[in-house]
Amino acid sequence: MNDPTSKGVRLVVFGRQGAGKGTQATRLATNYGIPHISTGDMLRAAVKDGTAFGMRAKEYMDAGQLLPDDIMLGIIEERFGEPDAVGGWLLDGFPRTPGQAADLQRLVSQTGMDAAVNLEVPEEVVVERISSRRVCNECGTIYSVSDSSGATQKCAKCGGVVEQRADDTEEAVRKRLAIYNEQTAPLLDWFRAEGLLLEVDGVGDPDEISAGIIAEIDERI
Ligand code: AMP
Repeated sequence: MNDPTSKGVRLVVFGRQGAGKGTQATRLATNYGIPHISTGDMLRAAVKDGTAFGMRAKEYMDAGQLLPDDIMLGIIEERFGEPDAVGGWLLDGFPRTPGQAADLQRLVSQTGMDAAVNLEVPEEVVVERISSRRVCNECGTIYSVSDSSGATQKCAKCGGVVEQRADDTEEAVRKRLAIYNEQTAPLLDWFRAEGLLLEVDGVGDPDEISAGIIAEIDERI
């Protein structure tokens, strides 16, 4: 059987906030036995730890703004240097700007990449999804609630508090979507030109969506 990890699978997942990027990224990383490198999760962990860096990051995040490229490059370079990332990785939330895309191209000049998955979901659908999104503040499990009052509940997996992310307010979400359209969506052109882009319809059953993505990636590696 094909052992993808021996080759070192390197994937990037794109998608507007609320496109199901986190869910699909987790499944793909598990399937290929590679670390799921989510810059948003890393930054939220720093915020939770209350470090000076975390407090600074929080200001950008709560305002729905992007952190500067040089800070993000430092985070990614450090993470790529960890032993588990030598045999491949999955990037979720990076690159997000033309500067970050140029940094990534430089970082992978020796190894290359295998695919960039773009989960396409219409803007109205993601606004609706995000307003009902709740996240466990302990283990990060994502829930969807029909009650959008902001009331908290307990995580079924770990008992942690399930709550709305501070940057999931409608104002911050609209700002993040505008930034995505302006800064991140144009990056897809480069991945398309390199023959790396997999366009995926992100509306539908998450199991079927991940099975489809895995089948396409398996054909390429
Ligand atoms: P996410 O969970 O990917 O939506 O990220 C949450 C927030 O973290 C973003 O709105 C940004 O403030 C920050 N962030 C995450 N990844 C990046 C990145 N690659 N560049 C700049 N800021 C980022």
